[in-house]
Amino acid sequence: MLLVSAPVLGDDEKAALAAVIESGWVTMGDRVGEFEQTFARLHQADDAIAVGSCTAALHLILHALGIGPGDEVLVPSLTFVATANSVVYVGARPVFVDIESAEVPLMSLDEAEAKCTSRTKAVILVHFAGYLADRDAWQSFARRKGLLLIEDAAHAPGLPEVGTYGEAAAFSFYGNKNMTTAEGGAVIARDRGLRELIRQSRAHGMTSGTRQRLSSRSAEYDVTMLGFNYRMDELRAALGLVQLKKLPAWNESRRQLATVYRGLVAEHCPSVKIPFELRWPSAHHLMPIVLPPAANRQRVVDHLRERDIQTTIHYPPVHRLTYYRDLDPDVALPRTEDMARRELTLPLHPRMTASDVERVVQALSAALAAEYPMGAVA
Ligand SMILES: *Cc1c(COP(=O)(O)O)cnc(C)c1O
Repeated sequence: MLLVSAPVLGDDEKAALAAVIESGWVTMGDRVGEFEQTFARLHQADDAIAVGSCTAALHLILHALGIGPGDEVLVPSLTFVATANSVVYVGARPVFVDIESAEVPLMSLDEAEAKCTSRTKAVILVHFAGYLADRDAWQSFARRKGLLLIEDAAHAPGLPEVGTYGEAAAFSFYGNKNMTTAEGGAVIARDRGLRELIRQSRAHGMTSGTRQRLSSRSAEYDVTMLGFNYRMDELRAALGLVQLKKLPAWNESRRQLATVYRGLVAEHCPSVKIPFELRWPSAHHLMPIVLPPAANRQRVVDHLRERDIQTTIHYPPVHRLTYYRDLDPDVALPRTEDMARRELTLPLHPRMTASDVERVVQALSAALAAEYPMGAVA
């Protein structure tokens, strides 16, 4: 089965894990520190904070920025549920914003402006599928409205401009992301004071960690704030250090495969649209396509599955998920809903070759021909 995404794991990762086990020190040690430094350098940042997941990263960022009950945070609905969940964790209200269009399925600035109220405190941008939001436009919007700007950068690790949009960015190293530590995440934040708050609240709000107490004379610690246990461990950091070295080459393979997809889909499936332009800055996390309005998506999915090709959907809109619909049944985001009905995500990962892409596009073309036997193309 050709999967939508697949981690690249091999001998280097095995050796790195074995070295941690031999060292006898399994959590919050030198490897976590080294991983943080290396991750920060790749994003031209001074420092990074490794955590247990991107969800934890988002929670810590909102918590440290003091967002809470009574506050509203603008979020896209075309995202993974964790983006909105993190807002609910701190007691604030996620306000869902429609996308610009199916061609540019990123949060719409005009819609964001229309949904601002006196309670709006922050915006969480999502670089959907790896395609970067317009930094200048969002920075000037945030300045004009007095809003905090946060990136959910789960889809876009490894691009130097990511992490420079606003107060902080959250990254994911889950198994299906561009690089993985199995589970894991990181925060990049510009302000040193904010970083210190996040670092301390990652580990119970304690003023020093086990490792620091080992290397200093003091056995004492204090807890000066409410914290969480959102630590990363040495095994994950060791995996992360290996994966980080490979990330730039993997992102380049993804870019090349995406370019092949664009050419072949335009040639063989002209009724299918691919969001964004060829040169849009991207980490190419996903290969989303938009099927013609009349196509039966389930039949296309089944057709590809019969040919051992997995496809997925990004995303079922968060505002339509039962939990969020129960919270606020009246949200209507027509462009997000239309996109979510027609979107299909094709396999894209660095273990694929150009001939895998050809096979997918051939199968897609055959599936659409079966949908429109008379050659009618919507
Ligand atoms: C994967 C993902 C997350 C959550 O990442 P975890 O590391 O699994 O917590 C958050 N936001 C987006 C957009 C994601 O794709």
